[in-house]
Amino acid sequence: MRVLVTGAAGFLGSHLTDRLLADGHSVIGVDNFATGDLDNLAHLRREPRFTFEEHDICDPFDPGAVDYVFNFASPASPPEYLRLAIETLRVGSTGTENSLKIAQMYGAGYLHASTSECYGDPLEHPQTEEYWGHVNPVGPRSVYDEAKRFSESLVMAYHRARGVNTHLVRIFNTYGPRLHPSDGRVISNFMMQALRGEALTVYGSGSQTRSFCYVSDLIEGIVRLSRCDEHYPVNLGNSTEFTILECAQAVLEVTESKSKIRFEPLPEDDPARRCPDIAKARALLGWEPKVSLKEGLKLSLEFFRNSVPVGP
Ligand code: NAD
Ligand code: UDP
Repeated sequence: MRVLVTGAAGFLGSHLTDRLLADGHSVIGVDNFATGDLDNLAHLRREPRFTFEEHDICDPFDPGAVDYVFNFASPASPPEYLRLAIETLRVGSTGTENSLKIAQMYGAGYLHASTSECYGDPLEHPQTEEYWGHVNPVGPRSVYDEAKRFSESLVMAYHRARGVNTHLVRIFNTYGPRLHPSDGRVISNFMMQALRGEALTVYGSGSQTRSFCYVSDLIEGIVRLSRCDEHYPVNLGNSTEFTILECAQAVLEVTESKSKIRFEPLPEDDPARRCPDIAKARALLGWEPKVSLKEGLKLSLEFFRNSVPVGP
């Protein structure tokens, strides 16, 4: 297949590109470097089945005939989407529609990277795909949450009204090599702080929970979902739930760091709990995450170590 990946220079987009190439496909990567980095694709410089175009997907574009579109373009880390508030709303609306138009024009399959943030600060736990969510539509995080919810609605409309073969994955916190060391997400912050010997910044009391999925598990689930007939959202993530304090302790253990923990204010509307119910993915895709948090942190160690600047 000839496959378009938007957001290809990002953390997940670059891993997905690697996997698609390994499966024998040709990939056209598109990215505007809003939060991505060409370094994530540097190893593909001499790969004849990979081409790259610097482009903002909010502006219409035509990559030529494609068989599949994976739409991964969007800032994803809270500090980044707060910094890029309008851009995040635009890419989750105009950008998503431009990518859907490409799929429609070429009769291509389509998969959109949605998020657990569609559930907001959830009142149901764990979160099943049937839960409609609890999102503050005007809070600071709404630029991401509502853009992603609008994208889901747009994707379903292109499926229902235009017959596009669409798929929606609701991704829960995923980490691994190429997670940008300074984009402010919890695993990258903690790993970098631990490796530099700085205090780990725990926001709030650290009792809020997240469920962390290693990138290879997520990509396997995404590839399986892209091939199946399900059009409604499917949760993909690791269902083992940790408090943020437990996550900090796991990072200290894996990095063998003596860093202390420093408590800082909790950001506004920070969800108190997050854990996917993955029964649907299990039944539909025969999929199960395999990598535990500590194993995944160990697999990420070299990447973060190489990202620590070497002293004079
Ligand atoms: P990332 O920031 O590393 O990658 C996003 C990529 O999209 C970047 O390379 C960025 O430059 C690019 N991009 C942003 N706006 C663009 C635009 N207008 N035109 C072209 N490219 C643009 O983040 P990520 O973690 O790899 O996330 C990828 C996708 O997965 C996002 O859509 C995100 O919302 C979704 N997601 C990720 C997670 C996670 O835990 N990593 C969780 C839920 C959802
Ligand atoms: N967090 C933290 N310290 C940090 C970065 C994040 O305690 O240095 C917390 C954050 O408040 C949230 C959780 O870790 O409760 C996950 O944050 P992240 O930004 O990775 O993603 P989110 O799940 O909130 O989108």
